[in-house]
This record gives sequence, C-alpha cells and structure tokens, in this order.
Amino acid sequence: MPSSPASATESETLAIEPAAVGFDGGRPVSPVFEDIYFDADGPAETLRVFLGPAAIETRARAAKLFTVAELGFGTGLNFLVTANVAKAHRLHFVSFERHPLRRDDAEKALAQWRRDYPLATELLDAWPPALAGWHRRHFADGRIQLSIWHGDAADGLRDFTRQQRCGVDAWFLDGFAPSRNPAMWRAQLFQHMAACSVAGATVTTFTAAGQVRRGLEAAGFETRRVDQRPHKRHSIAGVFRGAGIAFAAPERVNVLGGGLAGACTARALAEKRVDVTLVDPAGIATGASAVPAAVLHGRLLAGASAEARLRAQAFAYSSERLRGLRGTRQTGVLQVAGVNANAERLRGVAGALPKDWVRFLSAEEASRLADMPVPDVALHIPSALTVNAAECVRALLEHPRIKADEVSDEGVTTVLATGAHRGEFSHLELTGISGQMDLFRVPHMPTLPLVGRGSLVPGAKGLWVGATYEYRPWPAGDGELANAKRLADWTKTAPGTAIDSFHGIRAVTSDRLPIVGHDASQERVWFSLGHGSHGTVTAPFAAECVASQIVGEAAPADAELLELLSPDRFHARQQRRPNPFRSRRTEAITPDRTPERS
Ligand SMILES: Cc1cc2nc3c(=O)[nH]c(=O)nc-3n(C[C@H](O)[C@H](O)[C@H](O)COP(=O)(O)OP(=O)(O)OC[C@H]3O[C@@H](n4cnc5c(N)ncnc54)[C@H](O)[C@@H]3O)c2cc1C
Repeated sequence: MPSSPASATESETLAIEPAAVGFDGGRPVSPVFEDIYFDADGPAETLRVFLGPAAIETRARAAKLFTVAELGFGTGLNFLVTANVAKAHRLHFVSFERHPLRRDDAEKALAQWRRDYPLATELLDAWPPALAGWHRRHFADGRIQLSIWHGDAADGLRDFTRQQRCGVDAWFLDGFAPSRNPAMWRAQLFQHMAACSVAGATVTTFTAAGQVRRGLEAAGFETRRVDQRPHKRHSIAGVFRGAGIAFAAPERVNVLGGGLAGACTARALAEKRVDVTLVDPAGIATGASAVPAAVLHGRLLAGASAEARLRAQAFAYSSERLRGLRGTRQTGVLQVAGVNANAERLRGVAGALPKDWVRFLSAEEASRLADMPVPDVALHIPSALTVNAAECVRALLEHPRIKADEVSDEGVTTVLATGAHRGEFSHLELTGISGQMDLFRVPHMPTLPLVGRGSLVPGAKGLWVGATYEYRPWPAGDGELANAKRLADWTKTAPGTAIDSFHGIRAVTSDRLPIVGHDASQERVWFSLGHGSHGTVTAPFAAECVASQIVGEAAPADAELLELLSPDRFHARQQRRPNPFRSRRTEAITPDRTPERS
C-alpha cells in the first residue's frame, strides 16, 4: 500500500492498491479486515444506523447546503441512500477511503440495489480511478456533489478540516470496527471532527465501542446509545455541543473572461447556487478557447511529486467533468515517445499509474490501434477527450444562473479568467505565446488523436495538425508550412495545403503552471489564469477549486497542490530575481502587445 499523498516522494507511485473484496452470497466482505461492507439488508441498515438517528431527512429538507462527511466509502451504498433521502438544495457528501474498491467489485456489490437507487449506475459510470488524493464527482446538475479522498483518512481529514469553512452537518463513522482497524479511530479523528462541525452537527456510527464514545464526548459531542435490536445491541449517535463554524457564501460573483477558464468557473459557481455575471468585451470563446480540436490529456508523470499529482488529479477530474458535454468526444489518445517524453519516461508513467487508466504500447501495437504507422512506443490513455473548445464553452454557459453582460457588478467577488491579461496584477508572471493548427485533407485518418511529436487530431472535415509555439510572432505562412511539414514527417508524404487554420494566443506562466487562487491583498479577487497549452485539463479543475473556495467548501486539491498554483508564489520568487516576463527578451509578446489573432 503506498503512503498518503502528503508524505509522497518522487520514487513513490500515485496508484493505490485497490481493496481485496470477497463475496459471501452477494454480500461484499473484506478478507483483510475480516469484516463485512454492509449487512444483508444494505440500505435498511444505512437508514437504521446512520440516517434515522441523526434525523437526516428532516434536517436536510430545504437546507441550502447539507454536508455529510463519512469515514469509509466502501461500496458507496451510504452515499446512494443519503442522496435518495436528503432533499437539500445541495448535498455535499465527503468520504475518506484508504482501500477503494475496484469498479467491478463495486458493480457486483451494488447489483442488487441498482433498481431502487438509479444513481448507482451514474456512480459506477463515474467511478474514480485508484489514484491517491481527492476525487470529485457531480450528479443531478450539481445538486449532489461527491468528494472522495483516496488515502489515509487522517491525512485526508486534516486537509479537509483545514479547507472546509462552511462546516459539516452530519458525520457518519463507518469503516471497519475499531478492534480491526485501530488506525482509523485515533483520538485525533474526533478533534478534527470538532474543528469542522457546524453547531448542532450530528454523528452516527455503527460501533458501540466505549473508546469511540469517550473520544466523541471529549471532543464536544454529546452521545447516546441507539437500540439496534434485533440486528445488534446498539450503535452510537451524538450531537456537537460546541460553538461550531459557519460561513456566508456570496450570492453573486463576477467572472471576467468568456473562454474555457471563465465558462468552467461560471458553471461551477452556478451549480453551487451562486448567480454569475460573465463579462468578455471580445465575445464568448474568441480567444485561445476558439481552438477547434484540442486534446484533453494529462501529460502524466511518473512518481508522486506535487506536479505529478497535480497532472493526474486535474486530468482525472477534468476528463470526467467534460465527458458527455456538447463539443467533447471521448476518443482516447496515443502519446507517442518524443523529445519531451522519451520511451523510458513513458514506461515509468505507465508503471506508476493504474493499469486501466494508462497502457504502455509497443510501436506495432500503437500502429494497429491508430490504424496508421506510429514511429515509436506510446501510451494509450482511453479516457482522453477531443474538445471543440468553443462549443464546449457555449454548453457550459447554458445555465439559468449565468448571465452574460457588458459590465460587471459593483462590489462583488470577482474571478479573473482573462487568459494572458493580468490587469493591475503586474507581479503575475504571465505572457501570451501564439500558436497555430492547420486542417489538412488526408487520404487516411488515424482512428484517434496522436500527440508527443506535435499533434494529429482527426476531425469531421480532415486532420488537424499542430501546434506551433511562436515565442515571437512568425511571418505569415510560416505556421502552415511548419504544420504541413509535421504532417509530412508523420505520413512520409509530400506536404499538402491547409484547408482551414486556427491561430490563438496561449496564456503562459514562467513555471508553466496555471494561476489558481485569490490575491493576497484582495480577498475578493480570484484568478484562473495561465492555462497555457493544456487549458482543457487545467481550467475545469481550477474552476472547481476556485468555486469551492469562494463558497467555503474544500477544493478537490490538497493544500500542497493549492500552494503550487497560488498567485503568491511569484512574490517569493521576485524577492530573488525580477519578473522574467517584464524583461526585454519577451517584451515583444507581453499581453499588451500581442499580435493580432488571425
Ligand atoms: C494553437 C493552439 C492549440 C491548442 N491545443 C490545445 C490542446 O490540444 N489541448 C489543450 O488542453 N489546450 C490546447 N490549447 C490551449 C487552450 O486553448 C487554452 O489553454 C484555453 O483555451 C485557455 O482558456 P482561457 O479561458 O484561459 O483563455 P482564453 O480562451 O484566451 O479566454 C480568455 C478570455 O478573456 C477575455 N478577456 C481578456 N481581458 C479581459 C477583461 N479585462 N475583461 C473581460 N474579459 C477579458 C478575452 O477576450 C478571452 O476571451 C491550445 C491553444 C492554441 C493557441
């Protein structure tokens, strides 16, 4: 079992060993913990032990937001039953799981309940990969939000309680019994719970262990025994008697910028019941987000460094978030070995990540899959998407809480999603770098996009080839020539003439990481900027982080990842050296002087 992300090092892997599950007449059991996942009457047990004694149905009814935190996600049955009963305007169900089930095992375990709980089908369809860290899923147009931490519960809970400012309404302490799983039930658990509860928060747990009851009492929960006969003697329920925490989320937010970053942020906020005014004087999806055939793939890394985790988590979240949306197709991708990632590196990536997520292929296997000659080994990433970004932006903005306007509202929280335009925030190390893709007619199309030596992306009218990376503006025509040559190199044919072209400006930071978070001096100004060449991967993830924090919820990224993306990082660097994007070398391409878009 790998250790938690918080203690991960370069040599570790992000893949989590899934739970070993046995089945005893359809009932899932853990041979390791010698315990059951749920009793024969499954949902009835959840109602009897967790929901009923905490009056979840009544308390959640008409609540603007009802947050449940559970220890031990298991098969997800408690989540499904809670989502069915808790008719809050929004339900956020947060769970911590050290040993996640394989999707196949979860499917088998939930088979008998799928008719009564149709959400089970959606949950299984969006089942998170066995990757360490936070995973988030949205159901019922955002009314139901599920966050799962894969890893040690203590690490996850520490991160969650540090971030979650709007508190928890109900705690479900599931997981295996204290005698079989003592690591989960340490005294610190109860302290974390107390630090993050609203006044009157409830706790329910199947266990009757005195140690648990004493721990809860010491942390400020008033507990009682709940008669569970004839199933078992009793369980514990309790109410938090401390002052608790509360957070007033803003009701309206301005989002500046109508590209992918702005649209994803607006949608994330709208689904969290915030009204959004979206402003873009140039029009919706007219910047880099007019790209007609972008590939959403993670540029995954081996190891468990913060950047490897960021890439894996952003890809896992964003591919699922955009999947099925208008303008997207789940095509998968082949990442072919090239100068940026050689064969050895790709092999390392495949070895470090779940097998059903990334596969290492020989050149022959890759060629067969692509139905065209592939010159080197490759990674096959089946969950990658091809995105018509403008179409996707328009689909994201179709929400009754989002209105496009010419002016932003006065005095409200504002998110800058303005690409390379940093406004008054001159410390942000951000610039614009042009790029071009060209569309060619080809006699034979690959079956899926290929990246790694430039990109070949099959589209309805031909093959999109790209993209150039123009540190300084190139003379007219050079972009097309470069892409024609790239295509000729792949196909070993004479360069052809493009039938269409896209030229845009990527917003690039000095460390090639996006800028996500709020300004140090102005709490009500937030950023989602600098998405560079991979906005389809980073913008949806950044949007969820920013929107969550604005409404006081924990982001689907732990503190270390949020720090990596924080706008504050540039202040510290500029103590040591000047802003590199304000030097003469890059002056010609600073945002104020970017060349005209073609
Ligand atoms: C040729 C090319 C190929 C690419 N290929 C891929 C790919 O394969 N995969 C991938 O993931 N990504 C790809 N990208 C990158 C991707 O397109 C971007 O990362 C993404 O579109 C960035 O979205 P954004 O919303 O941050 O920026 P933009 O789409 O540029 O949006 C910023 C918006 O802010 C607006 N704005 C500026 N100033 C203000 C202001 N003061 N007030 C209000 N609005 C303002 C602008 O008008 C603009 O519409 C490619 C980019 C290019 C150029």
